[in-house]
Amino acid sequence: MEEIRDKCGVFGIYGVRNAGALTYLGLYALQHRGQESCGIISANNGGFHSRMGMGLVNEVFSSAEDINSLKGRSAIGHNRYSTTGSSSPENIQPLVMNYSRGYLAIGHNGNLTNYRQVKRELEKAGSILRTSSDTEVILHLLARSKKERIEQALAESLKKIVGAFSLVLLTPRQLVAARDPAGVRPLAIGQRRSSWVVASETCAFDIIGAKYVRDVEPGEIIVIDQRGLHSYPGMLKKSPHAFCIFELIYFSRPDSKIYGTNVDKVRRRLGRALAKEHPVEADIIISVPDSSNTAALGFSEESGIPYDIGLIRNHYVGRTFIRPEQKIRDLDVKIKFNIVKGVVKNKRVVVVDDSLVRGTTSKKLVKMLREAGAKEVHLRLSSPPIVSPCFYGIDMPTKSELIASHKSVEAIRRYLGADSIGYLSLNRMLEMPSLPKESFCHACFSGRYPIDISRRARLAL
Ligand code: SF4
Repeated sequence: MEEIRDKCGVFGIYGVRNAGALTYLGLYALQHRGQESCGIISANNGGFHSRMGMGLVNEVFSSAEDINSLKGRSAIGHNRYSTTGSSSPENIQPLVMNYSRGYLAIGHNGNLTNYRQVKRELEKAGSILRTSSDTEVILHLLARSKKERIEQALAESLKKIVGAFSLVLLTPRQLVAARDPAGVRPLAIGQRRSSWVVASETCAFDIIGAKYVRDVEPGEIIVIDQRGLHSYPGMLKKSPHAFCIFELIYFSRPDSKIYGTNVDKVRRRLGRALAKEHPVEADIIISVPDSSNTAALGFSEESGIPYDIGLIRNHYVGRTFIRPEQKIRDLDVKIKFNIVKGVVKNKRVVVVDDSLVRGTTSKKLVKMLREAGAKEVHLRLSSPPIVSPCFYGIDMPTKSELIASHKSVEAIRRYLGADSIGYLSLNRMLEMPSLPKESFCHACFSGRYPIDISRRARLAL
């Protein structure tokens, strides 16, 4: 899979002595959702402690002191990859404000499609925004609300914004979570003894020994305080559900439960369905690790063709790989993947990948497989062609950079140099999770956007 970056993982915990340390572990488990920056805010005695920085969780929290300084019994954390707002330190989350009612911190996964309009209105009304992150407008809307209770102020603020948001908020005495009415991004609730946890994915519960309880429902606001968890459903505008199908195909970890369904199970079914829709005579199945492993297993189970490890991914490639002087062909792909020659030599190889974005990585992989002696290379994708960008929190290239937006499937096959290519159909893909098909957003595959996108975004299509 070529890199598409998700915007962010969020985590929050309430009612435990080492809340900061547990949040650090939660962010570790959610590292795949954002590698640009991360941060943790903990609440202690009416004030906040914070640590944040650019880099991976283990770079920002590099000593026991970094973690132990996050005192208090509640905390929120955030891993970021930017979609709105530049990659700079002032945009690191959680964002914090100190307003008339004290401290408030927020972490956001998603993207607000009417951000510019709300920002303009806030600025007209005198607000001074200090970041270029869409999340900051939520803080300013909250600061302007006259409502007494946090859930009322939040509902009033969130009614003014459009788009995708899974939020965690921290006050000195409460942990708050909210999910947009369409439920685009996931957000789960867990319990660890007497403490409550919320996280983008349930893999963050496993690492701290918490158990999954349920999802924050689309349009629901949750307030957790010393009296327990209080649910406020129906305070936001109603909307049909639009769960991001890409979370199940690629973004989320296979060991997570998303929208109440096991990611691993769905990926296996996607692979099986792909094998039925696009059968092929071949000797081995290999996957593009790691996100395609499970779909490749499903393909192998259905087709009876053995699965093997033909591609090895280097997990230690830093974000700032320095290119050496001499020119090595296809170095960007070679630094990330290597072919196990003994596995593919003289074989008819099926490569299962979860999706195709620009096609540049796949083209190089096909070439490397042929150079390694593969007799035939058949590409199978466990999702349909990506034809439109995402405006709901996933960092994708522009429409013109998406190969399937301007090339037919046969033209893509020729461009990649593969012997055959097969994409899973939209209909079959939507049948694989055990949820109604209408519950999902599939705009990047169909161009049908379930939530209003900005005028600027429409013009770019
Ligand atoms: S457009 Fe695609 S990536 Fe974006 S929310 Fe919808 S399904 Fe997910």
